[in-house]
Amino acid sequence: MTPNYRSAETDRDYVFPDLGTAEGYPPSGTLTSTSITGWMTCARCWAHDNIQHLTKPASVHFAVGTCVHHSAELVGQMILEQEDLGPLSVEIQADIIELSLAVFDREVNKESDRNGTERIPPTDAEAGAAKDVARRVAEFAIPRLYQLYRKRGLVALEYELPAHLNPFPFPMTGRCDAISGGPKKGLPLILSDIKTSAQKGRPDQNNRVQGGVYALFVRQAGEEPRVIFDQITKALSPQFNSYGLGPEGALYMTPGQLEVVRETVTDIAGLISDGYAAYLNGDWQTFRRCFPIGQGWNGKHDFDHGVPEAHLLVA
Ligand SMILES: [Zn+2]
Repeated sequence: MTPNYRSAETDRDYVFPDLGTAEGYPPSGTLTSTSITGWMTCARCWAHDNIQHLTKPASVHFAVGTCVHHSAELVGQMILEQEDLGPLSVEIQADIIELSLAVFDREVNKESDRNGTERIPPTDAEAGAAKDVARRVAEFAIPRLYQLYRKRGLVALEYELPAHLNPFPFPMTGRCDAISGGPKKGLPLILSDIKTSAQKGRPDQNNRVQGGVYALFVRQAGEEPRVIFDQITKALSPQFNSYGLGPEGALYMTPGQLEVVRETVTDIAGLISDGYAAYLNGDWQTFRRCFPIGQGWNGKHDFDHGVPEAHLLVA
């Protein structure tokens, strides 16, 4: 086992599994902000997926999110390519929806994940119902994102956190959906992510930590960014709510809050490294300790951990 990295700050070695895709993102041995969120959601699920590569049921919720993200990307690309845009035409909106639903189909029918993990496809009924949701949410989100991205002064999509600004004592990267504003635009610098959610509600703690990671990177360049989550609910009549990170009523996170994010992420990186090393050594006790069973996403897990389930008893 060769460690990826030695840190003088934490006085330890780090070794991370390869989380990379065909396009080489993230670079081998680099942790990502989504792996931190994944670990916090359920560390055991994360390890089953990213280290052990156990066969995983396809997530139709994930496919809905991917579809809406694709719509946002197409909307954003239009804004970036052309300064003087009028209102979004019905034809263009329809094109964006069709292209995004094609991405939904591809996601749902994928037989293996980016890391080679095999996937169990959803039933046709599940996929069909989710596709209806994806269409509805995309139709709702497109005109709103179009307005919002223009108002914020969109600068780039799929913004990759620059490696040379890494504020962490180990290799780390991440991507946020959009970066807007900044001195050149004369607007506040905003890093934003789109989140599709079952119901309206503030972003959970895991997402807020992820947002803190974005800010920590950009602050290394001497910029003070706002971090905003644009949340779209998947209800029958969807809602759009933007949430800013920071203390109640403030536009920016405080240095104290960001330090908590940095410490939390550094602790988790240590556990991921220790757990991965334990996996390579066949030390299952340490592996379980570093990858505890968490709450899961909305109380649900991608993998069955064998925890007893509860059944409603009829009196
Ligand atoms: Zn789990």
